[in-house]
Amino acid sequence: MTEDFYDILEVDRDASEDEINAAYRKKAARYHPDVSDDDDAEEKFKRIKKAKEVLTDEEKRQAYDRMGHERFQEAEKRGGFEDRGGAGRAGGAGGARGQGPFGAGGPFGGGGGGGSMGDIFEQFFGGMSDRGSGRRRGQDLRTEIEIDLADAYHGVEKSLTVTRPERCGDCDGRGHPADADARTCPECNGRGQVRQVQQTPLGRVQQTGTCPRCEGDGELYDERCSTCGGDGQTREESTLNVEIPAGIQDGQTLRMDGEGAPGPNRGPSGDLLIDVTIRDDERFEREGTELHHRLPISVPQATFGDTVAVPTVDGQEDLEIPSGTQSGEEFTIRGEGMPRLRGRGQGDLHVHVQVVTPTDLNDEQREALTAFAEAGGEEIEVREGFWEKIKNTF
Ligand SMILES: [Zn+2]
Ligand SMILES: [Zn+2]
Repeated sequence: MTEDFYDILEVDRDASEDEINAAYRKKAARYHPDVSDDDDAEEKFKRIKKAKEVLTDEEKRQAYDRMGHERFQEAEKRGGFEDRGGAGRAGGAGGARGQGPFGAGGPFGGGGGGGSMGDIFEQFFGGMSDRGSGRRRGQDLRTEIEIDLADAYHGVEKSLTVTRPERCGDCDGRGHPADADARTCPECNGRGQVRQVQQTPLGRVQQTGTCPRCEGDGELYDERCSTCGGDGQTREESTLNVEIPAGIQDGQTLRMDGEGAPGPNRGPSGDLLIDVTIRDDERFEREGTELHHRLPISVPQATFGDTVAVPTVDGQEDLEIPSGTQSGEEFTIRGEGMPRLRGRGQGDLHVHVQVVTPTDLNDEQREALTAFAEAGGEEIEVREGFWEKIKNTF
């Protein structure tokens, strides 16, 4: 299936990076596999993410526009382009050349068909980037948020304060003042790359990596940014608003695109992953969209029937208890369970009745119950269907 990356995101071919990011956020919110019920959500999400990854990376986007969709995909499968000019590609160096995609070493991270080979190499070369510019995607960051069942029921916008690395505002992530004098890095002769030999379980592998001295810049500066000490990043506290969709389940993770750590050398930012925990609500137990509530009733209520108030997430509902109700019987209040994610229907509230045997009788009650026993109340008659009515397990 060949679907153009621009089509996938539904943006024009001359869309700005901001427009692409906005389109991505909209699509990703709909198809994120953690929050979408759509059968193809995972596949769609991958395509959306891939399209965004390529189109927001200046180098990749240029290559994509130049080569067209099919050729670009092909090139990527092979692990890189032959026709990338300038800084050049450095994947698959030395003896490994010709072995196909050099996994994470390729210019596109694990994006293509790296497979298990890629994983192995990622372990050993994970920290290295062979991009000429030294630009790398920033790390994903992880945080957590705790919400009430009512928040999960209605959906909620929460503000979240995280301390995270941010691109240094004084040097714009460069690590040096704009007017600092530059000289060519002697370690890599300005290439930003050095050859390194690593010992791996697969033998000695020569790999080209980012120059440790200039961190891929190819240049050294006579001055460091005094604010960030040359890192290009500072740790800052940020407050973000996160939209938590109605129907979210305990343990699900939300992703905020581009809110992770900034990439080294002004690379794109990683994502912020937010693990959602839902506080226990002592009134309910939750099973997906279904809620369960245990309702204690008295012997007379069970015997004669009654109308009782049952709590719902939002308030309460009247429930008719018929005469002759047994302990363990279940009643269903339709539509009072949790909403399905993305607003497609609602679960039910299941009320599990427990008849409470009286323990502290006063004299009058004792007398009355004794009279009941003497009047034949001690005889138990189990009718047909009795066990079926209370066999539900909860
Ligand atoms: Zn260098
Ligand atoms: Zn700085």
